[in-house]
Amino acid sequence: MKLIDLRSDTVTQPTAGMRAAMAAADVGDDVYGEDPTVNRLEATLAEMLGKEAAIYVATGTQSNLIGLMSHCERGDEYLVGQQAHTYKYEGGGAAVLGSIQPQPIEHEADGTLSLVRIAAAIKPDDPHFARTRLIALENTIGGKVLPMDYLAKTEALARERGLGMHLDGARLFNAVVKLGRPVGDIARHFDSVSVCLSKGLGAPVGSVLVGSNELIGRARRWRKVLGGGMRQAGLMAAAGLYALDHHVDRLADDHANARALAERLAAIPGIAVDLDLVQTNMAFMQVPLDAGPALKDFLAARGMRISLGPVIRLVTHLDVDRADMDAFADAVGEFFATYRSAATRAAVHA
Ligand SMILES: *Cc1c(COP(=O)(O)O)cnc(C)c1O
Repeated sequence: MKLIDLRSDTVTQPTAGMRAAMAAADVGDDVYGEDPTVNRLEATLAEMLGKEAAIYVATGTQSNLIGLMSHCERGDEYLVGQQAHTYKYEGGGAAVLGSIQPQPIEHEADGTLSLVRIAAAIKPDDPHFARTRLIALENTIGGKVLPMDYLAKTEALARERGLGMHLDGARLFNAVVKLGRPVGDIARHFDSVSVCLSKGLGAPVGSVLVGSNELIGRARRWRKVLGGGMRQAGLMAAAGLYALDHHVDRLADDHANARALAERLAAIPGIAVDLDLVQTNMAFMQVPLDAGPALKDFLAARGMRISLGPVIRLVTHLDVDRADMDAFADAVGEFFATYRSAATRAAVHA
C-alpha cells in the first residue's frame, strides 16, 4: 500500500538521483570553511537571491533564530505575525536564547501584517520600551503568497523607521513558482532570508540563511554558539544543490495537485473547503469537529495520513501525485457517505 502523507511537505524521501548526488559529494570540515559542497550551496543561494553571502544550517528554526540574533541584541524587539512560524512554532527561541522580545501582530486575511498595525507597534526611543529593530515576514504563509507591492511598501516603512527586514522563506520557492518571477525580486526587499531545503524542495535536511557579508558573519558566530557548526556537512548540502537544480520548477505540480484535491473535496457534502485559500501547495478542509478522529483512523487504515486541527491542512509534495489526490478524495467521500454526526445520530434515535 502506497503511503499518501499529506501532513506536511517535510515528509518526502530523498530520490535516487538525490542520494547519488549525496554519495558523490566532495566534503571537508565546514567549521573551517573547507567543505566545497557547502561552500557551493551557500554561493549558489546567495547569487540566486542577489545577496553577498549565505550560511548553511541544520534546520529552518535554527536559520530563523540565527537570523533574528544577527539583527537584534538583548533587549531588542522584532515585529512578527501572530501565526508566524518564528513566533509561534519555534519554542519562543528568540526570547529564550536571544533575549529578543517578540511583538506579535494580527494577520490580515491575505497573510500580511497591515502597515497601520506595524507602524502602531513601533516603539519610541524611550527606556520604558524594548528597542524595535526588525520586521519579520513569512512567505508563503499558510500557503498564501504575499503580494509584491505589499513587500515594497513594508520595506519602505522599515527603511523610513530604521528597521531591518527578515523573511522566513521556508517556502520561498513556492511563492517564486506561483508568481513566475526571479527569486531576487522577492529577496531584494529583505536584509536576511531563510530558505528551507527540506520542505517542498525535498532535501532530507537543511536550511540556508542569506544576507550581507556583515550579517552572515555574525550569523556564523551564532551558528557555532548554538551548536550548529557541522563538519562534513557537504553530504547533506549536496542534496540541497540537487534540489535547487531539479525540484524548483516541479513545485508547480504540487500547486496543481493541491488545487485538484481542493476541488474534489469541495464537492463532498459534509465538509467545507475554501478554494480561495489554495494558492500554492496547501489545501484546507473543515469537517464536523466530532468527525475528525474517526476520519483520521479511516484514512490511516488506507495508508493516508492527516493532522487534525480546527481546520485540516493538507500539504502536497514530491511524494504524492494526481492519482493520490483522487484516491484521497475518494476515501474522504466514502467516509462521509456513511458518516453521521453524533448530533444526527442522537436525533435519529430520539
Ligand atoms: C518548517 C518551517 C520552518 C522551520 O523548519 P524546521 O526545519 O522544521 O525547523 C520555519 N518557517 C516555516 C514557515 C516553516 O514552515
